[in-house]
Amino acid sequence: MSTPLPFSGHRIAVLGLGRAGLPAALRLRDWGAEVTAWDDGEAAREAANAAGLTVARPEAFDLLMISPGIPHRGPRAHPVARRAAEIGAPVLADVEFLFRAVRAAGSRARFVGITGTNGKSTTTALLDHIARAAGMVVATGGNLGPAALDMPILLDHGAYILEMSSYSAERLDRARFDLGTLLNLSPDHLDRHGDMAGYAAAKARVMQGNEIAVFGMDDAETRALAAAHEGRVVPISGTAPQPGGIWAEGALLRDEAGPIADLSRAAALPGPHNAQNAAAATALALGLGIARDVVAAALLTYPGLPHRQERVGEVEGIAFLNDSKATNADSTAYALACHERAVWIAGGVPKAGGIAPLAPLFPRVAEALLIGQAAEEFAATLAAHGVPHRIVATLEAAVPAALDAARRTGSGAVLLSPACASFDQFRSFEARGDAFRALVADLLNREAEAA
Ligand code: ADP
Repeated sequence: MSTPLPFSGHRIAVLGLGRAGLPAALRLRDWGAEVTAWDDGEAAREAANAAGLTVARPEAFDLLMISPGIPHRGPRAHPVARRAAEIGAPVLADVEFLFRAVRAAGSRARFVGITGTNGKSTTTALLDHIARAAGMVVATGGNLGPAALDMPILLDHGAYILEMSSYSAERLDRARFDLGTLLNLSPDHLDRHGDMAGYAAAKARVMQGNEIAVFGMDDAETRALAAAHEGRVVPISGTAPQPGGIWAEGALLRDEAGPIADLSRAAALPGPHNAQNAAAATALALGLGIARDVVAAALLTYPGLPHRQERVGEVEGIAFLNDSKATNADSTAYALACHERAVWIAGGVPKAGGIAPLAPLFPRVAEALLIGQAAEEFAATLAAHGVPHRIVATLEAAVPAALDAARRTGSGAVLLSPACASFDQFRSFEARGDAFRALVADLLNREAEAA
């Protein structure tokens, strides 16, 4: 006997037909819904049409699934979202639909939600790595990897590991995460959420009704939410002891029972910010019932994610690190803090404030090579602090110049950590990181041939 389709009889509008929306529309249709799909872009509409969807601007519907990037409230709310408000149709994230479908199928697969301002992808990928090492059946995605409705329906023993952006989090309704983590909160996306309180409330939705709620204790906002949380809290920290929780003492990850892992041996988890991520992933893994020794071993074999201090080459003890994901000074600070002395490649489309907040880390910069629109501005900041620097304009020029500079200054690392968006010279931070990886490979090949 087959279970009834989870959304039969529902009229669902799907707004935004990209990475999340197109698979969502197809899936919801397969699950019995009457789907009307819409995207403001003609190419996306054509793709949806070609895939056999009904494409029209939705007018009458019961539920609206909206892609993460589209605003549904405030002055920039999309007209279809305004229509939803007029007719009283709830606006929901794809994760909400996944949750409902899984529960409608009678599956008790567990849901793990990972949110916070920084470290979400790392913690998500790390927990995925640990769970797979333990032989668990997991589906991992959300913001990273496959979108929620691109995932399979898992049976009782499986677990969903979902990276939750604040945009997805605020569009949850009945979805409950069995385990949740809120890593940290810092002012970000405030344009969308209005103020810090609204942003914190969106993130806190991931933490409602958890069996185990893992809270980062390294910033005041998150600590306050942990203190107010009803239910079991596991506190975690990258730096300070946490009674009843998991924390790092230097590079030693531990809990009250003793050491768990020496993170100095985890090449893909440098720095205290990654110790926080490791503590969170460990707390979640133990909460999923994974054995402590399996967790400990898996932490050390985590391969890392592309574009986050990704090691893309090495010659003569000089490591080339691709940290293209660092699109603001805050992220670059974490990367610079991991190196005694580095040749730093920076620039692109600058953010307000530029690199001035990085001044305390400038002593670690042996030489800076500047690219893109920000080059002049960054050069002025560096000159004011007496940091050696050069405008090289492009990444192509920066890579060989960086090797020269590293040899000359005896630096152990060449770090691409732009502190800028990429759009002046690249399609995306991923394209910028991929270009860097290819340029480094070329350079090192030429070096090897010449030797
Ligand atoms: P997200 O998915 O939340 O954007 P990532 O795991 O992709 O986070 O990390 C992005 C960048 O944020 C990293 O390159 C690093 O500079 C910084 N970062 C990572 N983890 C943390 C953390 N726990 N606290 C603060 N910053 C972090």
